[in-house]
Amino acid sequence: MLASRFSPRRLMIKSKEICPALFGDRKFYKLSVGQARAISMGNVDQFKAKYGGRFMVTMLPGDGIGPEMMGHVKEIFRLGGVPVDFEEVHLDSTVQNIDNVDEAITSIKRNGVAIKGNIETRSNSPLFKSRNVILRLELDLFVNVLHCKSQPGIRTRHKNIDIVLIRQNTEGEYSCLEHESSKGIVESIKVVTREKSEQIARFAFDYAIRNNRKKVTAVHKANIMKLADGLFLNTCAEISKEYPRIEFDNMIIDNCSMQLVSNPHQFDVLLLPNLYGNILNNIACGLVGGPGITSGKNFGQEYALFETGSRNTGKGIAGKNIANPVAMLNASVDLLEFLGLFKHAKIINDAIYQTVNVDKVHTPDLGGTAKTTDVIQNVLDIVLDKTRV
Ligand code: ATP
Repeated sequence: MLASRFSPRRLMIKSKEICPALFGDRKFYKLSVGQARAISMGNVDQFKAKYGGRFMVTMLPGDGIGPEMMGHVKEIFRLGGVPVDFEEVHLDSTVQNIDNVDEAITSIKRNGVAIKGNIETRSNSPLFKSRNVILRLELDLFVNVLHCKSQPGIRTRHKNIDIVLIRQNTEGEYSCLEHESSKGIVESIKVVTREKSEQIARFAFDYAIRNNRKKVTAVHKANIMKLADGLFLNTCAEISKEYPRIEFDNMIIDNCSMQLVSNPHQFDVLLLPNLYGNILNNIACGLVGGPGITSGKNFGQEYALFETGSRNTGKGIAGKNIANPVAMLNASVDLLEFLGLFKHAKIINDAIYQTVNVDKVHTPDLGGTAKTTDVIQNVLDIVLDKTRV
């Protein structure tokens, strides 16, 4: 029964069961990319596993600080009365075979949605693929969205930053296609397609419209990679014409990196190919407080996955009770919003805001002396206070 809900890629679904506002009165519809995307953005319940009023979500604790962070998320959800159960899958990043990864993928396909810690890539063997990359490719999580916003309680060089980074998540340099063509000569294939470039560009402009953003900046290196980045840039420019209300410009990646640290306020929405997205995501997270603050959302047409924005493992600080849990807590708020549990999301979000910006319970990465558990306790106290009957 559940499996049949997810099997065909383009689905014929009874409209009224999904979302009458989206589909009108007609009975059966073949989903367009835009409609499927609306679904993947959490507009409807169809792709989420819900039993007896509770949601089932896949949890991949990952390595390093991941398991600790997930423990805190579970505790806050439990004490805050959040109707979410987790199906935990522990990925073993030491083994070559991918049975374990298959288990995780099956779980996410069944539940439709996951929360994830970063999985370490321990092997340098070219045969060993990053588990993080396999998951994104297999689930076709084509977009990664980061909202980097200054927090008034965190001391940073620039104030009032509010930038959204929209990153193509499945192609480019992450095709995992590398070979040694002859001894000492390695070729690494960067794949850029019109289809995926169009998809990510549309997503970025749709996002800008929906979220009242004014400008989209495509980032590239088309002066050097004339074909690959040229295709990305030209496709973004073409799609931009369908969105006359949104200003469109472009910037070369090296200049954009410099501008982002020297004058970040000029940016609104950044539209990024995969590797440049990875780099600028980290810079942008750094601008608003580092790896422990910002969350990241990954969407495909069928599944959603929530994690920390800069995807750190934090192996060196694991088990020391000093990691900043805010990024993962923010990921859990994103998850609740996706599930439509807006009341719970707001309570936890407000508790995080108060902890960071009003009570200023800061871990060492923010210049504070608080332990991870101090932050969690503060958040919990506020959540319990708000949810007490
Ligand atoms: P590590 O140095 O932790 O073994 P690494 O070099 O792979 O791992 P990342 O995991 O990418 O580094 O993390 C980058 C830096 O950010 C590290 O110094 C790490 O300790 C720090 N960091 C990552 N996550 C957090 C967090 N939640 N709170 C505080 N610091 C963090």
